[in-house]
Amino acid sequence: MDVRIDMHVHSSESDGTDTPAGLVRTAVAAGLDVVALTDHDTSAGWAEAERAVRESSPPALRLVPGAELSCESSDGRGGTVTVHLLAYLFDPDSPALRDEQLRLRAERRGRLEQMARRMADDGFPVEPEKLMAGLPPDSPGGRPHLARALVEAGTVGTVTEAFDNYLGTHAPYYMPRTDTPVERAIRMIADAGGTTVLAHPFAVSRGQTVTAEVITELAGHGLRGVEVEHPDHDESARKRLRELVAELGLVPTGGSDYHGTNKSIRIGSEHTPPESLDRLLGDCTGSKIIG
Ligand code: AMP
Ligand code: FE
Ligand code: FE
Ligand code: ZN
Repeated sequence: MDVRIDMHVHSSESDGTDTPAGLVRTAVAAGLDVVALTDHDTSAGWAEAERAVRESSPPALRLVPGAELSCESSDGRGGTVTVHLLAYLFDPDSPALRDEQLRLRAERRGRLEQMARRMADDGFPVEPEKLMAGLPPDSPGGRPHLARALVEAGTVGTVTEAFDNYLGTHAPYYMPRTDTPVERAIRMIADAGGTTVLAHPFAVSRGQTVTAEVITELAGHGLRGVEVEHPDHDESARKRLRELVAELGLVPTGGSDYHGTNKSIRIGSEHTPPESLDRLLGDCTGSKIIG
């Protein structure tokens, strides 16, 4: 029987809409055997997801604790670009990592409030105070939260439309963040006993991406894998990445990047090959797979 593995999903602890426990139920209902919880810049959802897995006996699936880290990287063309790192089985109490994630979450909330403020000042029906009050105090607020507020106010019909018209990288209300240099993030996760995978590196719909040379360099800095199977990769991107990953001896993974109703992608729509799981996670010591 096929083992079904989705290594990239978000809960309401970041910018998804399912609670961590709800996410586990959704993953079970979708027939997944392994799911990795990878909220942006936080491990706050781990405990609730872990309880949800342990409550079913025998456990209905295995849960890989993880996170998605926003990082700054060279784009390989003389500029810089935001890349996302998927990190797995690290120790969330590692001081350097904990402090950096705390900083990132605070910066995310400050930036979100400023974006909302700029829109409100221009007459859009968003209330920055109300938006921020709706987020848990230490949570990583993101553009999807503002996008939802715009949907609820009737300004746009969908979250995607909010990105296209107002919040996307080249849209009028976009604001950048100060992300972690990617080499530093790779090292912090390794120091915390975990491992890293470059998320959706050729997702051109999100704007400028990195070149193959950058991926080669990151492999030299300890990057262990590349997310090849992702909804934002077309067939040619997948093919180029499969070849590159094989050439560099990296581990190919796949994930849906499920965000609940904030995106139309279904959980389990992309898969990680079972042999990749062992190669990727075999040496991790920072935390354990649940179930
Ligand atoms: P932020 O973390 O605040 O920079 O926002 C980025 C997040 O917004 C990503 O993690 C996705 O969840 C979401 N996102 C990015 N682009 C889009 C898009 N075009 N449509 C819907 N959601 C998007
Ligand atoms: Fe997201
Ligand atoms: Fe991402
Ligand atoms: Zn993601």
